[in-house]
Amino acid sequence: MKHTSQIVHRSVTRKLPTAVAGNGVYIEDDKGQRYLDACGGAAVSCLGYSHPAPIAAIRKQVDELAYIHSSFFTSAIAEQLADKLVSMAPDPLNHVILLSGGSEAVETAIKLARQYFVERDELERKHFICRQQSYHGYTLGALSIGNNPKRRKPYAPLLHADHSISACYPYRHQRENETEIEYGLRVANELEVKVNELGAENVIGFIAESVGGATAGVLPPVPGYLKRVREICDQYNILLIFDEVMCGSGRTGTFLACDHDQVTPDIVTLAKSLGAGYQPIAATLCTEAIYEAVRGGSGALMNGHTYMGHSLGCAASLAVLETIESENLLDNVKDKGHKLITNLRSQLTSHPNVGDIRGRGLFIGVEFVLDQSRKTPFDSKLQFSSVLKHTSEENGLMCYTGNGTADGVSGDHVLLAPAYIIDDNIVDEIVDKLSLSIRQTADKVNQSRA
Ligand code: PMP
Repeated sequence: MKHTSQIVHRSVTRKLPTAVAGNGVYIEDDKGQRYLDACGGAAVSCLGYSHPAPIAAIRKQVDELAYIHSSFFTSAIAEQLADKLVSMAPDPLNHVILLSGGSEAVETAIKLARQYFVERDELERKHFICRQQSYHGYTLGALSIGNNPKRRKPYAPLLHADHSISACYPYRHQRENETEIEYGLRVANELEVKVNELGAENVIGFIAESVGGATAGVLPPVPGYLKRVREICDQYNILLIFDEVMCGSGRTGTFLACDHDQVTPDIVTLAKSLGAGYQPIAATLCTEAIYEAVRGGSGALMNGHTYMGHSLGCAASLAVLETIESENLLDNVKDKGHKLITNLRSQLTSHPNVGDIRGRGLFIGVEFVLDQSRKTPFDSKLQFSSVLKHTSEENGLMCYTGNGTADGVSGDHVLLAPAYIIDDNIVDEIVDKLSLSIRQTADKVNQSRA
């Protein structure tokens, strides 16, 4: 391996190790260091790195037909994947657009939602409402409808103003005299206020992650919250879009994360675990009503990408979804998720710098604080989350750390999203390695404060 790299890496100052092999949930680098992947890369690798099913499916597909352009042909494998997705998603999410990545799926959701109203001649509709600290992808459209201050800042002049309401974040914002349900209704009702402020006739829809992910360290909605959001969207005739790029495809123990809340959106986006990392693949699903508006109107989707419905992506994804079913992995996600969060709580709740441990299924976040009772975040200069990332890597553990947790600027967390195939021993290894890494990080950071 040469010493310099011509690649513009995410960090151009830090030298990355070179990965050479993946076996189950472990990655090995060229120096022989082994890492337990507790975050699936970025909630992607849901079957580990060496599952035979997607590997065989890709090999078979590449021998048959690797690629066809979607303006000339459909393919059996793309049709099979679409049928599978529709069979796993709740009614009336009966139509699928196949894409290559999360941001593309979100861009497609944005355009499809606008097109729905264009087809109905409601041309004045232009606003999306989102939630504070939301992240829906790095393309300009996706950044425009998100509210993550750090990621928006450099591109602000290129973006639309965002219209945001509070996130559903009980650890920080539920009042002492409020039940969880009352809190959920209060924050959901902010949507109604925002719709009225903008004028319902100008609003396209509300977009939210069903379970918040990367930017605030896993935020499952409180009971009743998503139901109230659905009611408001119906009442004002605006679309409800769930971005399940990170939390969907089984990550929380149900196929869609919102299945748990028994709420169905008009549009949902999926990526990451959909291809488990074996191929880039994403999907945007929509309801019969949206599909019918396009079919009965212009008759054409006003959005296209060269690699839409790529045969290798479809083959990998179909094999992933079939494996999730045949190996009963949703049950394993629930079971191991419960064990992981319970053991993390018993190991870490008493640590003075652990503020909250929350999650759903194998999607778990730990938020760090300087002071447990006041929930004060660490000074961002101390870089708690990056120290934790490096410390974990030294201990042979990959975990997905983030900052800006508390308010988009300050706060630190770690997100865990291990593969759906993990067993009890791997749960124990994650808990041991993460607990050790958190204690070592807290010692280092507290020493540098002193
Ligand atoms: N939406 C959400 C909720 C995400 O977490 C991400 C990626 N972290 C994206 C969209 C963008 O996906 P991609 O990086 O595949 O473009």
